[in-house]
Amino acid sequence: MSLLPLEEAFANVEKGISVLSAEQVSVADCLGRVLAENVAARLTQPPAPVSSMDGYAVRAQDVLSQPVTLTRVGESQAGGPYDGTLADGECVRIFTGAPLPAGADAVIIQEDTDVFGDQITMKEVAFEGKFVRKAGLDFSEGDILLHKGRVLSARDVGLLCAMNVPWVKVFRRPRVAILATGDELVMPGEAVRESQIISSNSLMVAALVQAMGGIAVNLGIAGDTEESLRETLSGLDCADLLVTSGGVSVGEYDLVRKVLGEEGLDIDFWRIAMKPGKPFMFGHIGNKPAMGLPGNPVSSYVTAFLFLRPALRKMQGGAFEQDKPVQVILGAAVPENGVRQEYMRAVFSQDPDGNLVATPYNKQDSSMLANLAHCEGFIIRPVNAPALSAGEKTQAIYLKDAMVSV
Ligand code: AMP
Ligand code: MG
Repeated sequence: MSLLPLEEAFANVEKGISVLSAEQVSVADCLGRVLAENVAARLTQPPAPVSSMDGYAVRAQDVLSQPVTLTRVGESQAGGPYDGTLADGECVRIFTGAPLPAGADAVIIQEDTDVFGDQITMKEVAFEGKFVRKAGLDFSEGDILLHKGRVLSARDVGLLCAMNVPWVKVFRRPRVAILATGDELVMPGEAVRESQIISSNSLMVAALVQAMGGIAVNLGIAGDTEESLRETLSGLDCADLLVTSGGVSVGEYDLVRKVLGEEGLDIDFWRIAMKPGKPFMFGHIGNKPAMGLPGNPVSSYVTAFLFLRPALRKMQGGAFEQDKPVQVILGAAVPENGVRQEYMRAVFSQDPDGNLVATPYNKQDSSMLANLAHCEGFIIRPVNAPALSAGEKTQAIYLKDAMVSV
């Protein structure tokens, strides 16, 4: 059976994933969520002209030359405005953020004044608008400042508060059911017999789901029997997406495709031209998308990085996008590539000219998690790419540039 080219696999998964419904959340809980609506400011900021400095509010026309002495007639502080109107020869003590009194149109900063009781000598000239923040300097009521599809940042949280918006409509968090398969697997912390290994994929994929704003629902470990798989799958109902790991290649115990098939799985594809990660499966059970990640932890991670991450973003109303590759200089030679696009774990550094240098690990075995955790990115080796020497340019995914640190 032939291998599906990676670009086609991306396109099929993008097509097979739908956007979830929206929900209302408090601005206190909206970090990292994707806006499901445009958000308009509910007020003008600042609502009226305010001072940007501590000093004296004046009529600019009174302070066209200096020194000029004006009479202090009151005070305006943030939250405590001066109610009168400034007349000829008058000034008002003012503080940062306080409203400018009626009649005033400029501020002389306190460092440029001499104070004798209520007689204030201005030692700098004024002009209209000096040290004044105009009404609406930041934004005006009704301005749409955040648009549908935006992934909300900490700065956006600040802006929403300033806009006096306490609730926002965001796309629902995807609930992802995660199922590991294999008789040899035990959960971390359990006693491990010699023939057993620990399931690293379950919680690694769960962590990636969480980092992408999803909710991980751990269905546990299914043994390599049809009954065990069927039983574990019963927890699927509450999820928006199923992710399995292991059991999707062609081994005798690779029952995932068979059992899911009996549960109504409609397979879109299950072998892709990628390394690591050839036995990656995508399909639907009813209208629920399902991804079968390969068992080897590095294959599991790389396929989750390339397929699950953009899928989760799309489910939350964002774009199904891959991280943009960056140009790197190879720190070591790489051999000619075969018919699968390869993602090589690499450490990144900078050369004296500031160029990014990517050096692949000598060993790229897909069971090796330590160099996956320590790598800073993946060198991309396209299908049938020729051998390259150290110092040559190529493309890589720099994990530090990833949308969310995973
Ligand atoms: P499989 O695709 O089930 O044949 O698994 C391929 C390899 O990945 C085998 O060596 C498995 O032991 C290993 N593996 C499968 N599932 C996991 C998991 N959840 N965590 C770590 N390794 C796994
Ligand atoms: Mg297995």
